[in-house]
Amino acid sequence: MLALSGEAPALAYTLVRRRGRRSVGLRVDSAGLTVSAPLSAPLSRIETAIVESEGWIRRKLEVWLARQVPEPSWDAGATLPFLGAHLTLEVRIAGRAAAEKAGDVLRIRARSLEAAEIRRVVEAFYRRSALLHFAERTFVLARSAGLGTPRVFLSSAKSRWGSCNSRREIRLSWRLIKAPPEVIDYVICHELAHLRHMNHSPAFWSEVERLCPEHRRLRAQLEDSDHLYRSF
Ligand SMILES: [Zn+2]
Repeated sequence: MLALSGEAPALAYTLVRRRGRRSVGLRVDSAGLTVSAPLSAPLSRIETAIVESEGWIRRKLEVWLARQVPEPSWDAGATLPFLGAHLTLEVRIAGRAAAEKAGDVLRIRARSLEAAEIRRVVEAFYRRSALLHFAERTFVLARSAGLGTPRVFLSSAKSRWGSCNSRREIRLSWRLIKAPPEVIDYVICHELAHLRHMNHSPAFWSEVERLCPEHRRLRAQLEDSDHLYRSF
């Protein structure tokens, strides 16, 4: 914590020092304020950078705060985002946990009505559904673009929806299964394009364009609504 002035309440931030970095960089996202600084930058230089951008930081933090969505209640009747629509939760107590989607109802059997237990069963259902959906769409999109199919894994990331590596593995956050199918397709195409270009160069974006002509609109849609996918 750092008190910036007598009046303003303290601004909390995470400091990340990076080798090779030359300037002080500020980023505000769901994790709050992150400051990237050169290894040797004195704290006074970092604090000056924060003070100089205090207005901008506070405006950005406010936007993030307004975009915070509380966790569902985990009671029967709660609505849960799923593939761009909503599922209504139905809960029954049973000896063995299970979950089944019937239309827009998610029927779960849980060992108790405790929020943590219901959440655990729902998350397991989301993870299973996500892996099936992501693997199938990756296969279809890669094949129609004439690319080999990479291996697909799940992550639990809350802000990094997809990533890939040089071993031709794609990781997608299971939380993305809450997004509309076309938004998920965009994230998959983005990662498929990275298999050819491990950067965000113009060549990379023209590959994205080839795989997903609607990428600009879908990326904006993801940035607009991705806070909804972080509520659990
Ligand atoms: Zn990327």
